[in-house]
Amino acid sequence: MRIAVGGIHIECSTYNPVLNEEKDFRVLRGQALLEAPYFAFLKDYDAEFLPTIHARAIAGGPVSRATYEAFKAEFLERLKPLLPLDGLYLAMHGAMYVEGMEDAEGDWIGAARALVGEECTVSASYDLHGNVTQRIIDALDIYSTYRTAPHIDVEETMRRSVFMLVESLKTGVRPVVLWAPIPVVLPGERTSTVDEPAKSLYAMLPGIDAIDGVWDASLMVGYVWADEPRATAAAIMTGTDRAVLEREAKRLASAYWDAREDFVFGCETGSLEECVARAVASPTAPVVLAESGDNPTGGGVGDRAEVLAELIARDAAGVVFAGITDKAATETCYAAGIGAELELSVGASLDTKGSNPVKARFIVKFLHETADPTDRQAVVSIGGIDLVLSAKRRPYHNIVDFARLGLNPHGAAIIVVKSGYLSPELAPIANPNLMALSTGVVDQFVERLPRLRKQYPTYPFDKDFAFEPQVFLSARSARV
Ligand SMILES: [Zn+2]
Repeated sequence: MRIAVGGIHIECSTYNPVLNEEKDFRVLRGQALLEAPYFAFLKDYDAEFLPTIHARAIAGGPVSRATYEAFKAEFLERLKPLLPLDGLYLAMHGAMYVEGMEDAEGDWIGAARALVGEECTVSASYDLHGNVTQRIIDALDIYSTYRTAPHIDVEETMRRSVFMLVESLKTGVRPVVLWAPIPVVLPGERTSTVDEPAKSLYAMLPGIDAIDGVWDASLMVGYVWADEPRATAAAIMTGTDRAVLEREAKRLASAYWDAREDFVFGCETGSLEECVARAVASPTAPVVLAESGDNPTGGGVGDRAEVLAELIARDAAGVVFAGITDKAATETCYAAGIGAELELSVGASLDTKGSNPVKARFIVKFLHETADPTDRQAVVSIGGIDLVLSAKRRPYHNIVDFARLGLNPHGAAIIVVKSGYLSPELAPIANPNLMALSTGVVDQFVERLPRLRKQYPTYPFDKDFAFEPQVFLSARSARV
């Protein structure tokens, strides 16, 4: 059996003004796709996998129209000579926003379906922070999404999607896909599967999978920083017994709806000023202070310097701050060299209208050796603060991200990261974890963001309304 593989994977805050261009994506093409660690698991399945293109970027702003159109054209061009295909596997995120185009995944998946034809079986894997539409469901035969946030089941999910596809082709049984949208859309930080009630809701899924006639039960949290009509949670089912799938989709949707008021942040939160004050006064260490409104992995810009300004104002000591994206300041440090003392403007370099920079004197302590200019990172110090400056938008979620810059997070009094919920490596060392509900394009106070395109009513923007789950079948399944 011949299965083509491809996709596009990005999460875009529609509030983020910084466009993603081709250079911001890691692109796997042709044979390199199959050889990449991300797709290495495919060799475990008994099928001939035919690579197309897979483009992936960290979360951010909208994808520029030209970049999207170029990727889509290349994907279709690479897909075309592979026809006829038995199957197509699409590895997606699900929260892409393209300049001037809502439901961008609907466009991508719809174009793929139009090209491969009705006979081909199409399977997709998603991030649970993706958003879904009828147009997407209509083009698919098989669907699966992550069941953990923070995401530690990425490969497991991709395997489920591929396993179901291979089984379907082997047995000749084409499954049904249906979904029940849930008019709730909450930030990932209130719906982490480490905390209740998401923990118990996601714990329902293996039990649903085990029911006869169910292949996969998916629960979507959705992506709240997309101001689009499709931004909602959803229960999505793949399987063979339509009545059972409908019943379970409704049950899951109702359980999520019933729990809507119980979704709270899994750590201590406060305003930026409150969190910095608490961190400075903390008797225990290291405090891990997450600046949530500017979290690049949630779609934030990653260039804001307000927390830095507050730390300086409070004379904070023993601080490791990783990091602020500022290409110009980073370049200046490399030009000056280690030991140089410099006047720098730090922050507000990408979203120049979104916030204000910090202008102060810093000492260059460390320069990351790299041949790739976009990978440049400098550590500068001011008072008791060691600050990482980065040429590009990037997270600091793993201990190695600090260690390679000569920084020891374990020895710090305060670690500042631009993050929402903490990564699996930082969470265990946080003593305690504070999350600053700071302003930014991924503001955790979603109710204070402009809402022009989201559906009415949607919780938590609207509170006083009733909901009865309704199930919608994919157009392909309706024809069976
Ligand atoms: Zn996600």
